[in-house]
Amino acid sequence: METISTLYIPVNRAYHSRISEVDWDNLDFGKYTTDHMLICDYADHGWQAPQIIPFGNFSLSPTTLALHYGQTIFEGLKAFRMEDGSINIFRPQKNYDRMLLSAERLCMPMVSMELFLEGLRRLVELEKDWVPGQKDSSLYLRPFIIATETKLRVKVSDNYRFAIVASPTGAYYQQPVRVKVETDFVRAAHGGTGYAKCGGNYGASFYPAQRAKEQGYDQVLWTDGRENKYIEESGTMNVFFLLGDQLVTPPLSDSILDGVTRDSLIALADREGIKVAERPVSVEELEHALESKTLHEAFGAGTAAVISPISVIGIRGKDYMLPGEGLRPGIGSRLKEVLEKIRCGREADVFSWNFIVK
Ligand SMILES: *Cc1c(COP(=O)(O)O)cnc(C)c1O
Repeated sequence: METISTLYIPVNRAYHSRISEVDWDNLDFGKYTTDHMLICDYADHGWQAPQIIPFGNFSLSPTTLALHYGQTIFEGLKAFRMEDGSINIFRPQKNYDRMLLSAERLCMPMVSMELFLEGLRRLVELEKDWVPGQKDSSLYLRPFIIATETKLRVKVSDNYRFAIVASPTGAYYQQPVRVKVETDFVRAAHGGTGYAKCGGNYGASFYPAQRAKEQGYDQVLWTDGRENKYIEESGTMNVFFLLGDQLVTPPLSDSILDGVTRDSLIALADREGIKVAERPVSVEELEHALESKTLHEAFGAGTAAVISPISVIGIRGKDYMLPGEGLRPGIGSRLKEVLEKIRCGREADVFSWNFIVK
């Protein structure tokens, strides 16, 4: 998909590029940032002119509201180098829609769709040499908005900064993970902020995740905030289960983040003729399926790793092993492969997911 925009974004180029400092064979996720970033400030009830400037520190007062009260939201998406050399940003409109919901929940103003898309496009175009070409690697893009008014009082900020930074990321080989069904702590409550990508959700998830690590797990499988009875997400990823011959994922709600990867995998599975259901999955159902060996596969889904296979599920102190891939790749790996082919132009973009930069 392509759009034509007349929005002008001035570029103040960096004198010196840091690209030669990159160890392209060891692109630790989030380690490197590109030479430039986009910033746009909100003041006097409106967004000011956007600009692309050299990547660098923000100067913030210690009383900046975002630092104290967590009025911050973010997005995460990727740009891929395609077979024909052009660059593709994957489904940025979906990220825009989600950021709009996050902004509303946090009482923040949202930039226009045009600024969001054109900002991404201009930044990626400028940083095209930073988009890796190796299989499975990409340029991770991080748009975010922070409350920048300086005041110690708890209040909705009058000033904001929208920014986009970019980070080259490598093939993310995801080791199968051990997850613990979490029934003491919750990530999100009904009426809370679970569906928003806001800073506080992550800060609050560290303690339960750290406790799970101390108990020998890699991650938690969150349950609902009302009864701790239904599975919600896996860490910071959506979750899928292959129960019998059906691929099942919990339905969206105000406590589940509407993942772009989740949405893409559902569409692809459906097209591949795999039975997909968005329905509640109780801990009890999982336990029965694990005991009767009808849970064949489980994986987390998110932009960073695409899919993250689950090898062990711990329920109330009992660990259940999943079968693993064996000789044939599982449904998760198959869907991941199709998704990757579409993103780099080796398969037709039948859903119009690709936003071609150049
Ligand atoms: C970002 C995120 C996801 C995955 O969303 P994608 O758009 O697929 O990257 C899932 N759950 C949580 C809590 C997240 O923050």
